[in-house]
Amino acid sequence: MPYRTTASDNKQCLSYMSEFSGKVAIVTGSTSGIGEAIARALHALGASVVINSSSSVETGQQIATSLGDNAIYVQADISDKASGQRLIDETLKQFGQLDILINNAGWTTLIAHHDLDALTDEIFQKTFDVNVTGTWMLTKAAMAHLKKSDDGNVVNITSVAGVRPIGSSMAYSMTKAALNQMTVLLAKSCGPVRVNAVAPGLVETPWTKDWQNQHDAVKAVAPLHRSATMEDCVQATLGLLRTKYATGQIFVVDGGLTLVL
Ligand code: NAD
Repeated sequence: MPYRTTASDNKQCLSYMSEFSGKVAIVTGSTSGIGEAIARALHALGASVVINSSSSVETGQQIATSLGDNAIYVQADISDKASGQRLIDETLKQFGQLDILINNAGWTTLIAHHDLDALTDEIFQKTFDVNVTGTWMLTKAAMAHLKKSDDGNVVNITSVAGVRPIGSSMAYSMTKAALNQMTVLLAKSCGPVRVNAVAPGLVETPWTKDWQNQHDAVKAVAPLHRSATMEDCVQATLGLLRTKYATGQIFVVDGGLTLVL
């Protein structure tokens, strides 16, 4: 017999579509990849969203326009304190509140771990400036506003590189470990704001499109035999936002890769 939707199914469906209505979310680094996918998902579920990037201004404006109502784009480099503060200020000016901060923006470059000289002081510094200092400064600036929400949330997009000695560079791995620790420290001290992290393994995004060797290696050894998709990261993020008694969790989403490393 064909499946027919009932009034109760429709009601359930509508309640999912409006699950985050009345909530305001900033997603850093959301002109591409995982951040864009999370921003689009939150908007589809009713949230007002702030799209952000340090460059790619035109793309950011196009994404905000394509989402229509309740979406704006704010150009801001999170590693610059004034710029990060402007991101918060513009959000409050436009939407009057902040409920969800998704710290997704990140920077890396591929450097073999044994090649210490290739990891120059400049690259090391920039990796920390964006991934750690920028995320810290923005979260600090956002916290007082998140505390006014009935369910203030921070979700940090970290990496399995923060829990194992792996990753695109040693600096990147160190920054993601710092972000994981920042997650638990803030969760411990800033309740009732909830602070969690999604720590993906290798994800198919524009960032990793040329990393065929790495994708092949994951496919060969990870128990789920594939890299993550952006949708996997979206579902993990939504899962943490929906699980209202969860805080301080580092949600490893790696197809089981860390089980065999
Ligand atoms: P991406 O390159 O597709 O997107 C990165 C986004 O960050 C872009 O919008 C870029 O403009 C923005 N950005 C970079 N520097 C910024 C800054 N200083 N200020 C504001 N925005 C900035 O990358 P992605 O693969 O979607 O990665 C997103 C996040 O997921 C990163 O934090 C990354 O470390 C993490 N991650 C990615 C993978 C992967 O395999 N792709 C795995 C684990 C974790």
